[in-house]
Amino acid sequence: MCGIFAVANNRESARLSYLGLFALQHRGQESAGIAGVKKGRLVYYNSMGLVNDIFTPEILSSISSESAIGHVRYSTAGSSSVNNAQPLYFNCKYGEIAVAHNGNIVNAQKLRRELVEDGAIFQSDTDSEVIIHLISRSHQKNLDKAIAEKLPLLKGAYSFLFLTKDKIIAARDPHGFRPLVVGKLGDSWVFSSETCALEVIGAKIEFEIEPGEMAIVNSGKIKFTQFAKPTKISRCIFEQVYFARPDSVICGQTVQKARYEIGRILAKEIERFDADIVSGVPDSGTAYALGFSAASGIVYQPVFMRNHYAGRSFIQPDQKMREFTAHLKLAPIKDVIMGKKILLIDDSLVRGTTSKKIVRSLKDAGAKKVIMAIASPAIISPCFYGIDTPKKEELIAVRFKKIDEIRKFIGADGLFYLSLESLIKVCGNADRNFCSACFDGKYPERD
Ligand code: AMP
Repeated sequence: MCGIFAVANNRESARLSYLGLFALQHRGQESAGIAGVKKGRLVYYNSMGLVNDIFTPEILSSISSESAIGHVRYSTAGSSSVNNAQPLYFNCKYGEIAVAHNGNIVNAQKLRRELVEDGAIFQSDTDSEVIIHLISRSHQKNLDKAIAEKLPLLKGAYSFLFLTKDKIIAARDPHGFRPLVVGKLGDSWVFSSETCALEVIGAKIEFEIEPGEMAIVNSGKIKFTQFAKPTKISRCIFEQVYFARPDSVICGQTVQKARYEIGRILAKEIERFDADIVSGVPDSGTAYALGFSAASGIVYQPVFMRNHYAGRSFIQPDQKMREFTAHLKLAPIKDVIMGKKILLIDDSLVRGTTSKKIVRSLKDAGAKKVIMAIASPAIISPCFYGIDTPKKEELIAVRFKKIDEIRKFIGADGLFYLSLESLIKVCGNADRNFCSACFDGKYPERD
């Protein structure tokens, strides 16, 4: 998964992009980059690491320009290396172009083989680079037309931002898998994966780029073209389940509100359970647990302290050290846990290894019972559109067919999942156009 952000027509575009990317950091922690325009030439700076560690005031000044695009990366296609850090930069007959991409292009390997056969020299192994080679081979008379001609060759998920010396072009795939919202800041147009980043810079949320639509901003003016008919609209439901930030608005409501409501429904769907307290696995589990508590009347109590400074890259040389890491990230609050029957909510069960550790940790801290409630259905199929899920055979709900076997594996005294019907109903807020392939195996588009 990745996050993308752009500001068109603002002298502070690089600094504003930095703030926007900072607000989108949860979408990718491997690398970040910003591209801008200086004296008619594109300038960019990409590096491995977190936004705050990469960009110094000097670097931001060096890319300061009227328009800028930025990217934070969590690799789901291609390796985690600086070659794959975005925005990608290239120079072709349409001039200099920088590209930032969120999503996974499912036919990228096939297109890449054909392009390589035709003489293309790839610089990275990301699926995103494919669009660059396609555009450079177009015979259209300008870049807008070349992009509109080539995007329909891509299958799968893409929200794109393109930067040239005088334009920003934003585009979203015809299924609308990945989000792309538009805001206004004075005379400037702002594009973002999530609304939380628009609000951070004081931009007003305007609308979404529609599936199959392209927006082109030139000299402060925005125009729209439909490069492909919207197919079956399939926005990713996992954005609300896990990925998006709680203060972001999706389908007309904050993610927090949706998660709270899901918690309430989960409390009604689980007919019988016996618990003294309800709690959530931080951070995403908290909103669900609060909703569950409100509907069930069972008191909410945090049972874990999450250490926000425990990075993903913590070195884990052996089993003993790995156990420390689990504790380092989520520390049990012992006297809240001791002797209690705890109903614990997490957003999802993927491999089941996190839940297993968490249940163990609560039991070691003296919990009398741990009942796990999952705020989404069982994950039975991998995602091909940009969420990092393992191979099918590694999914816990594939390895074990019966819920009771999964319960035993994670060591819980009870295990419940939310129904897909309820998840779609709450997340959609009347809109039911979701991709829920991870839960039902129905892929809107395959290679
Ligand atoms: P697992 O141990 O594989 O069952 O991991 C499930 C946990 O990972 C849940 O607590 C989720 O909050 C979290 N999670 C779910 N999807 C992802 C993802 N794509 N990337 C990172 N963490 C995830």
